[in-house]
Amino acid sequence: MPSVVDLRLVGHLPCLDFVNSVDWRTSDSPVDFLRSFDDLLQWSAHAGVLAPSELRALGRRGNAAARCAALRRAIAFREASYRIVEAAMRRHAPEPADVRLVEAVIAKARASLNLHYEKGKFRWSYADGETHLDSPLWKIALSLDDLLTSHDLALVKECGGPGCGWLFFDVTKNHARRWCSMEGCGNRAKARRFYDRYIR
Ligand SMILES: [Zn+2]
Repeated sequence: MPSVVDLRLVGHLPCLDFVNSVDWRTSDSPVDFLRSFDDLLQWSAHAGVLAPSELRALGRRGNAAARCAALRRAIAFREASYRIVEAAMRRHAPEPADVRLVEAVIAKARASLNLHYEKGKFRWSYADGETHLDSPLWKIALSLDDLLTSHDLALVKECGGPGCGWLFFDVTKNHARRWCSMEGCGNRAKARRFYDRYIR
């Protein structure tokens, strides 16, 4: 069974890669790679959302119930993000409940940041040493904030592979990207075209 660290990061933005932690989302049997809080931590390190020092600190933080609750908050945020982005891609109004949910998490993420001056540079960090159980979620939430308010949502696309359901931000020059990856759905489509043309 592949784990979170085997997931390809094709979304171009952490918030989209986070949505893609459900594989085969639009098929009859989606696979959720986030089965525990540790999976969330491993994914966050894999996606560059958490630094190794933060990963170590969070690995020891909180009891089982608190970690489970943090995972549930992250998954609720992920699913609301997916529905909002999906709706925006289709130029539909998102569900107000989803907007309120991501708004609350983004607001918390923003409010938890402190501006620090260090060695001639400013940087944002979290007040309690960046080890709050929700800090991975907050970083992902700031990425969604950036996508929703500063990026062209028309460039968010869903992979054309049947059942794949992965989302990506298309930064190709002519905005003609169709697949999560050429190695994955792109190749499967190519193989199918070959089959359609020559074998049937
Ligand atoms: Zn795909």
